[in-house]
Amino acid sequence: MPRTLIAGNWKMNGLIANLAEVERVSAAVSPSSEGPELLLCLPATLIAAASSRSDGSHLKIGGETCHPKEKGAHTGDISAEMLKDAGASYVIVGHSERRADCGETDQIVASQAAAALRAGLTPIICVGETLSQRDAGDVLDVISTQMAGSIPENAAAGAIVVAYEPVWAIGTGRVASSEQIAEVHRLVRDLLVKRFGDAGRGTRILYGGSMNPGNAAEILGVDEVNGGLIGGASLKADDFLAIYRLAAQ
Ligand code: PEP
Repeated sequence: MPRTLIAGNWKMNGLIANLAEVERVSAAVSPSSEGPELLLCLPATLIAAASSRSDGSHLKIGGETCHPKEKGAHTGDISAEMLKDAGASYVIVGHSERRADCGETDQIVASQAAAALRAGLTPIICVGETLSQRDAGDVLDVISTQMAGSIPENAAAGAIVVAYEPVWAIGTGRVASSEQIAEVHRLVRDLLVKRFGDAGRGTRILYGGSMNPGNAAEILGVDEVNGGLIGGASLKADDFLAIYRLAAQ
Protein backbone atom coordinates (compact mmCIF):
# COMPACT_ATOMS: atom_id res chain seq x y z
CA MET A 1 0.00 0.00 0.00
CA PRO A 2 1.42 3.42 -0.90
CA ARG A 3 1.92 5.73 2.07
CA THR A 4 -1.03 8.10 2.48
CA LEU A 5 -0.38 11.74 1.65
CA ILE A 6 -2.50 14.55 3.05
CA ALA A 7 -1.68 17.68 1.06
CA GLY A 8 -3.06 21.20 1.43
CA ASN A 9 -3.28 23.79 -1.32
CA TRP A 10 -3.58 27.35 -0.08
CA LYS A 11 -3.95 28.72 -3.65
CA MET A 12 -3.66 32.55 -3.71
CA ASN A 13 -4.35 32.87 0.01
CA GLY A 14 -2.08 33.67 2.89
CA LEU A 15 0.01 36.51 4.26
CA ILE A 16 2.93 36.36 6.68
CA ALA A 17 0.42 36.53 9.54
CA ASN A 18 -1.11 33.26 8.36
CA LEU A 19 2.16 31.41 8.98
CA ALA A 20 0.77 30.97 12.49
CA GLU A 21 -1.52 28.30 10.95
CA VAL A 22 1.51 26.55 9.45
CA GLU A 23 3.20 26.59 12.84
CA ARG A 24 0.09 25.15 14.49
CA VAL A 25 0.04 22.30 11.98
CA SER A 26 3.74 21.51 12.33
CA ALA A 27 3.60 21.68 16.15
CA ALA A 28 0.62 19.32 16.31
CA VAL A 29 2.27 16.34 14.61
CA SER A 30 5.12 14.38 16.10
CA PRO A 31 8.43 14.78 14.21
CA SER A 32 8.95 11.02 14.10
CA SER A 33 5.41 10.30 12.95
CA GLU A 34 5.19 7.17 10.83
CA GLY A 35 1.62 7.88 9.79
CA PRO A 36 0.52 9.65 6.63
CA GLU A 37 2.78 12.22 5.04
CA LEU A 38 1.67 15.77 5.67
CA LEU A 39 2.23 18.60 3.19
CA LEU A 40 1.16 22.21 2.71
CA CYS A 41 1.56 23.72 -0.77
CA LEU A 42 1.78 27.47 -0.31
CA PRO A 43 2.08 30.69 -2.32
CA ALA A 44 5.72 31.23 -3.33
CA THR A 45 6.02 34.24 -1.02
CA LEU A 46 5.53 32.04 2.05
CA ILE A 47 7.64 29.00 1.19
CA ALA A 48 11.00 30.04 2.64
CA ALA A 49 9.50 31.30 5.90
CA ALA A 50 7.15 28.32 6.25
CA SER A 51 10.03 25.92 5.60
CA SER A 52 12.20 27.45 8.28
CA ARG A 53 9.31 27.62 10.77
CA SER A 54 8.44 23.95 10.22
CA ASP A 55 12.04 22.74 9.98
CA GLY A 56 12.59 19.42 11.76
CA SER A 57 8.86 18.71 11.96
CA HIS A 58 6.81 16.10 10.13
CA LEU A 59 5.22 18.80 7.94
CA LYS A 60 6.59 19.26 4.43
CA ILE A 61 6.21 22.39 2.32
CA GLY A 62 5.44 22.55 -1.40
CA GLY A 63 4.84 25.01 -4.22
CA GLU A 64 1.71 25.44 -6.35
CA THR A 65 3.26 25.53 -9.82
CA CYS A 66 6.65 25.93 -11.50
CA HIS A 67 8.09 27.00 -14.84
CA PRO A 68 9.55 24.27 -17.08
CA LYS A 69 12.92 26.03 -17.33
CA GLU A 70 15.58 26.28 -14.65
CA LYS A 71 16.16 30.04 -15.08
CA GLY A 72 16.04 32.83 -17.62
CA ALA A 73 13.96 35.64 -19.06
CA HIS A 74 10.53 34.67 -17.72
CA THR A 75 9.42 37.64 -15.66
CA GLY A 76 7.22 36.73 -12.73
CA ASP A 77 7.70 32.99 -13.03
CA ILE A 78 9.31 30.67 -10.54
CA SER A 79 11.45 27.65 -11.30
CA ALA A 80 11.40 24.27 -9.60
CA GLU A 81 15.00 24.91 -8.53
CA MET A 82 13.90 28.14 -6.81
CA LEU A 83 11.15 26.27 -4.95
CA LYS A 84 13.65 23.62 -3.87
CA ASP A 85 16.09 26.31 -2.78
CA ALA A 86 13.36 27.92 -0.66
CA GLY A 87 12.71 24.63 1.15
CA ALA A 88 9.95 22.97 -0.90
CA SER A 89 9.92 19.23 -1.49
CA TYR A 90 6.75 18.96 -3.59
CA VAL A 91 5.04 21.06 -6.26
CA ILE A 92 1.50 20.90 -7.66
CA VAL A 93 1.36 20.97 -11.48
CA GLY A 94 -1.63 21.03 -13.78
CA HIS A 95 -4.15 22.22 -11.21
CA SER A 96 -7.39 22.90 -13.09
CA GLU A 97 -7.29 26.55 -12.01
CA ARG A 98 -3.95 26.96 -13.78
CA ARG A 99 -5.10 24.92 -16.77
CA ALA A 100 -8.08 27.32 -17.04
CA ASP A 101 -6.48 30.63 -15.95
CA CYS A 102 -3.10 30.24 -17.64
CA GLY A 103 -3.88 27.94 -20.56
CA GLU A 104 -1.62 25.18 -19.26
CA THR A 105 -1.96 22.21 -21.60
CA ASP A 106 -1.04 18.58 -20.89
CA GLN A 107 2.24 19.20 -22.71
CA ILE A 108 3.10 22.18 -20.51
CA VAL A 109 2.08 20.22 -17.40
CA ALA A 110 4.39 17.37 -18.43
CA SER A 111 7.28 19.81 -18.87
CA GLN A 112 6.56 21.35 -15.45
CA ALA A 113 6.51 17.89 -13.89
CA ALA A 114 9.81 17.08 -15.63
CA ALA A 115 11.24 20.31 -14.22
CA ALA A 116 10.13 19.27 -10.74
CA LEU A 117 11.88 15.92 -11.12
CA ARG A 118 15.01 17.64 -12.46
CA ALA A 119 15.10 19.84 -9.34
CA GLY A 120 14.49 16.98 -6.91
CA LEU A 121 10.87 17.87 -6.15
CA THR A 122 7.93 15.46 -6.23
CA PRO A 123 5.31 16.73 -8.71
CA ILE A 124 1.64 16.30 -7.81
CA ILE A 125 0.13 16.01 -11.28
CA CYS A 126 -3.55 17.02 -11.33
CA VAL A 127 -6.15 15.61 -13.69
CA GLY A 128 -9.91 16.01 -13.70
CA GLU A 129 -12.96 16.52 -15.87
CA THR A 130 -15.29 19.50 -16.12
CA LEU A 131 -19.01 19.13 -15.47
CA SER A 132 -19.85 19.31 -19.17
CA GLN A 133 -17.33 16.56 -19.90
CA ARG A 134 -18.92 14.42 -17.17
CA ASP A 135 -22.42 15.15 -18.44
CA ALA A 136 -21.31 14.16 -21.94
CA GLY A 137 -20.07 10.80 -20.62
CA ASP A 138 -16.46 11.64 -21.47
CA VAL A 139 -14.89 11.25 -18.02
CA LEU A 140 -12.75 8.19 -18.69
CA ASP A 141 -11.53 9.51 -22.06
CA VAL A 142 -10.64 12.90 -20.59
CA ILE A 143 -8.73 11.38 -17.69
CA SER A 144 -6.92 8.90 -19.97
CA THR A 145 -5.84 11.72 -22.31
CA GLN A 146 -4.67 13.92 -19.44
CA MET A 147 -2.75 11.04 -17.88
CA ALA A 148 -1.05 10.15 -21.17
CA GLY A 149 -0.08 13.77 -21.86
CA SER A 150 0.75 15.13 -18.41
CA ILE A 151 3.18 12.54 -17.02
CA PRO A 152 6.69 13.21 -18.33
CA GLU A 153 8.64 10.54 -20.17
CA ASN A 154 11.45 10.39 -17.62
CA ALA A 155 9.13 9.87 -14.64
CA ALA A 156 9.48 6.91 -12.31
CA ALA A 157 6.34 5.58 -10.66
CA GLY A 158 7.51 6.36 -7.13
CA ALA A 159 8.70 9.86 -7.97
CA ILE A 160 5.30 11.30 -8.88
CA VAL A 161 1.88 11.71 -7.27
CA VAL A 162 -1.35 11.92 -9.28
CA ALA A 163 -4.33 13.91 -7.99
CA TYR A 164 -7.81 13.27 -9.36
CA GLU A 165 -9.72 16.52 -8.97
CA PRO A 166 -13.09 16.75 -10.71
CA VAL A 167 -13.24 20.43 -11.68
CA TRP A 168 -16.91 20.69 -10.67
CA ALA A 169 -16.04 19.60 -7.12
CA ILE A 170 -13.25 22.11 -6.49
CA GLY A 171 -14.25 24.90 -4.12
CA THR A 172 -17.94 24.23 -4.77
CA GLY A 173 -18.88 22.18 -1.73
CA ARG A 174 -20.03 19.52 -4.20
CA VAL A 175 -18.18 16.25 -3.59
CA ALA A 176 -17.93 13.36 -6.02
CA SER A 177 -19.70 10.24 -4.78
CA SER A 178 -17.67 7.27 -3.58
CA GLU A 179 -18.67 5.40 -6.75
CA GLN A 180 -17.54 8.26 -9.00
CA ILE A 181 -14.23 8.52 -7.14
CA ALA A 182 -13.68 4.75 -7.19
CA GLU A 183 -14.34 4.52 -10.93
CA VAL A 184 -11.75 7.17 -11.81
CA HIS A 185 -9.16 6.04 -9.27
CA ARG A 186 -9.41 2.50 -10.64
CA LEU A 187 -8.82 3.85 -14.14
CA VAL A 188 -5.84 5.94 -12.99
CA ARG A 189 -4.34 2.91 -11.25
CA ASP A 190 -4.80 0.77 -14.38
CA LEU A 191 -3.13 3.45 -16.52
CA LEU A 192 -0.23 3.70 -14.07
CA VAL A 193 0.27 -0.07 -14.10
CA LYS A 194 0.11 -0.12 -17.91
CA ARG A 195 2.77 2.55 -18.04
CA PHE A 196 5.07 1.53 -15.19
CA GLY A 197 4.31 -2.15 -14.70
CA ASP A 198 4.00 -3.34 -11.11
CA ALA A 199 5.74 -0.19 -9.83
CA GLY A 200 2.60 1.70 -10.87
CA ARG A 201 0.82 0.17 -7.88
CA GLY A 202 3.05 2.30 -5.65
CA THR A 203 2.18 5.72 -7.12
CA ARG A 204 -0.02 7.72 -4.78
CA ILE A 205 -3.39 8.78 -6.21
CA LEU A 206 -5.00 11.63 -4.25
CA TYR A 207 -8.61 12.79 -4.44
CA GLY A 208 -9.28 16.53 -4.39
CA GLY A 209 -12.56 18.44 -4.40
CA SER A 210 -14.30 19.95 -1.36
CA MET A 211 -12.77 17.47 1.06
CA ASN A 212 -13.41 18.45 4.68
CA PRO A 213 -13.39 16.86 8.14
CA GLY A 214 -17.02 15.77 7.62
CA ASN A 215 -16.49 13.76 4.42
CA ALA A 216 -12.80 12.82 4.58
CA ALA A 217 -13.23 9.46 6.31
CA GLU A 218 -15.57 8.19 3.61
CA ILE A 219 -13.43 9.50 0.74
CA LEU A 220 -10.19 8.18 2.21
CA GLY A 221 -11.83 4.78 2.57
CA VAL A 222 -12.54 4.47 -1.15
CA ASP A 223 -10.47 1.89 -3.01
CA GLU A 224 -7.28 3.30 -4.59
CA VAL A 225 -7.55 6.63 -2.74
CA ASN A 226 -4.12 7.20 -1.21
CA GLY A 227 -4.74 10.60 0.30
CA GLY A 228 -6.23 14.00 -0.38
CA LEU A 229 -5.45 17.33 -2.01
CA ILE A 230 -7.33 19.84 0.10
CA GLY A 231 -7.98 23.49 -0.76
CA GLY A 232 -10.35 25.47 1.45
CA ALA A 233 -10.15 23.15 4.44
CA SER A 234 -6.35 23.39 4.53
CA LEU A 235 -6.43 27.09 5.37
CA LYS A 236 -7.43 26.43 8.98
CA ALA A 237 -5.03 24.30 11.00
CA ASP A 238 -7.88 22.68 12.97
CA ASP A 239 -9.71 21.44 9.86
CA PHE A 240 -6.54 20.32 8.11
CA LEU A 241 -5.32 18.46 11.19
CA ALA A 242 -8.75 16.84 11.62
CA ILE A 243 -8.45 15.39 8.11
CA TYR A 244 -4.88 14.27 8.81
CA ARG A 245 -6.00 12.49 12.00
CA LEU A 246 -8.79 10.72 10.13
CA ALA A 247 -6.22 9.53 7.59
CA ALA A 248 -3.98 8.30 10.37
CA GLN A 249 -6.66 6.05 11.90
C1 PEP B 1 -7.89 22.22 -4.62
O1 PEP B 1 -7.59 23.41 -4.60
O2 PEP B 1 -7.13 21.43 -5.17
C2 PEP B 1 -9.13 21.79 -3.99
C3 PEP B 1 -9.44 20.52 -4.03
O3 PEP B 1 -9.88 22.77 -3.41
P1 PEP B 1 -11.15 22.55 -2.44
O4 PEP B 1 -10.73 21.53 -1.41
O5 PEP B 1 -11.38 23.90 -1.83
O6 PEP B 1 -12.27 22.07 -3.27
